Amino acid sequence: MAAPICPDCQKRLEGGFLLDQGSAGPTVGKWVEGAPVKSAWSGLKLKGRRQLNVYAWRCPSCMQVRLFAPE
Ligand SMILES: [Zn+2]
Repeated sequence: MAAPICPDCQKRLEGGFLLDQGSAGPTVGKWVEGAPVKSAWSGLKLKGRRQLNVYAWRCPSCMQVRLFAPE
């Protein structure tokens, strides 16, 4: 994915991602389809939900972070 441009500052955004510190080690944070539903067994019900890696782009000028979850 090409670096997006900040709509406010017109600066090129810095690429990055949101870290997810899972019990099995660090992973990339995910976008999950729908609202969160608690599960007594796994913490959250995730079966059948679409999950996409979330990429975070940060503006070096205004410091806003924009999130993208490409297919
Ligand atoms: Zn900006």
